[in-house]
Amino acid sequence: MGIRTVEEYKQSLRDGRKVYISGERVEDITKHRVLGLTVDTIGAAYELAQKGDQKTRDLLIAKHPETGEPINRFYVTPRTPEDLANRTKAIHTLMRLTGGLPFGKDIGTDCLNAAMAVAKQMGNKQYEANAKNFLEHLRKNDLHTCGAITCVKGDRGKEPAHQKHPDYYLHVVDKNKEGIFVKGAKIHITSAPAANEIMVVPTRQMRENEADYAVSFAIPANTKGITFICRNGRGPWSDKEFHADRPVRELTEAMIVFDNVFVPWDRVFMCGEWQHSMNIAYTFATFHRFTAISYKVPNVEVMAGCAVAMAKYNGLFKVSHIREKLADIAAYVETLRALADAAAAKPVMFGDIAVPNPLIANMAKLHFASKYHEFVKLIQDIGGGILATSPDKKDWDNPEIHDYLEHYLGGSADYSTEERMRMIHETMRHVASHEAAFHEVTTVHAEGSMAAQKMMILHESPLKKYEMRAKIAAGILPIGTPVD
Ligand SMILES: Cc1cc2nc3c(=O)[nH]c(=O)nc-3n(C[C@H](O)[C@H](O)[C@H](O)COP(=O)(O)OP(=O)(O)OC[C@H]3O[C@@H](n4cnc5c(N)ncnc54)[C@H](O)[C@@H]3O)c2cc1C
Repeated sequence: MGIRTVEEYKQSLRDGRKVYISGERVEDITKHRVLGLTVDTIGAAYELAQKGDQKTRDLLIAKHPETGEPINRFYVTPRTPEDLANRTKAIHTLMRLTGGLPFGKDIGTDCLNAAMAVAKQMGNKQYEANAKNFLEHLRKNDLHTCGAITCVKGDRGKEPAHQKHPDYYLHVVDKNKEGIFVKGAKIHITSAPAANEIMVVPTRQMRENEADYAVSFAIPANTKGITFICRNGRGPWSDKEFHADRPVRELTEAMIVFDNVFVPWDRVFMCGEWQHSMNIAYTFATFHRFTAISYKVPNVEVMAGCAVAMAKYNGLFKVSHIREKLADIAAYVETLRALADAAAAKPVMFGDIAVPNPLIANMAKLHFASKYHEFVKLIQDIGGGILATSPDKKDWDNPEIHDYLEHYLGGSADYSTEERMRMIHETMRHVASHEAAFHEVTTVHAEGSMAAQKMMILHESPLKKYEMRAKIAAGILPIGTPVD
């Protein structure tokens, strides 16, 4: 099959999976007001791979490295900086053309690439073969896979083995000749209810007494014992919003409950090898932070554009303090872009798998998460209080008050009032709405908290080298002492 149509993708979701949202069981998620948007957002990527222009299809569709058959770009295991750069380009293109984030394969393959790299490092041929076979299954059937890493975790101050009950972290409860049984819950899993397969990786390092928690595997979303409990979302455009002529794009996250779920051995990539749990979690995090910095660039470009446009509509583009703020905005975006490019250009090789540069990928994620709120503040500052109090589209459409709005809400004479109103509404969505608050929290936590990035930056940075350079400078070590 190789490349599916949107209809084939949608049909594959009508498989009896157990999905709840706002307390209600949903039989067909493709038709649900909120979950349907997630399906359509992911579906938009399937559509572009089928019907996009030649350049887009060349980017989204790659050749199977052995057979030459068409496969989705995300199912190319990265071997070179170019493979990593192509992943980034595919994410940028998908976001710009669909107007959203069609995360259908990215996080799942971040997990699978990590599982594959770590199976090689463990020297476990069976796990390696399982990971390779699973990849072939994804390639052949063009499946959507989510990545389930984050456990619900209970008391954050306690390790998995010392919690009130054993299920705050996903773990193996039984094994037999055919496979393993797992119990626990993963949370915040992006686009999970609309996935074909769930790819599971441990959320943290496990110790010897936590070997049952060192488990990685993949299973179909409709497997017995799996329940999705989804976040509610904004739903389609309302008649109160000025908006572009394209559908809302949104992904829904879910808590996935694993209630004694059976996983056959040929779908297991780690089971009990606690010594390697840190490595798989760490390698996943590196791949995933690279995905994150790739999708953030098109996002923050649009937000920066709102600031530029609002400065112009308000007649302030040439004012010095506004230009200073625009410089800070541009520096935020371009630093992120430069770091994302550098992370792809300088990978670390795990055997023949190219892992994005861990130091640079973590620096990039820390940059966007730690400075995002300041970036939002600058846009809010330039836009003005109208971002909080703007009349809505229904006011604009009401002939009794329309002329007042037209007359009084204009800005620079170079632009129409309607254009300014449209940009105000676009900017509000990013910096003064329920969605904006969602993104502020997401920027901090998704792809790991800032403390997690700092831990990895410390681990990857040449602290010893810095120290030796200082000692040479201070005359404690002689000039010419080797430092590398
Ligand atoms: C929109 C969204 C989408 C996401 N998508 C996915 C996904 O697809 N797949 C997936 O697996 N995950 C996903 N995540 C989860 C994300 O990776 C986590 O939110 C993140 O790792 C933080 O974990 P947490 O939410 O449990 O926060 P917590 O762990 O509760 O963290 C809160 C704070 O406590 C600190 N903290 C926690 N534990 C400790 C400790 N032991 N010692 C010291 N400090 C500690 C953290 O550093 C942080 O500052 C998503 C999250 C969001 C918001």
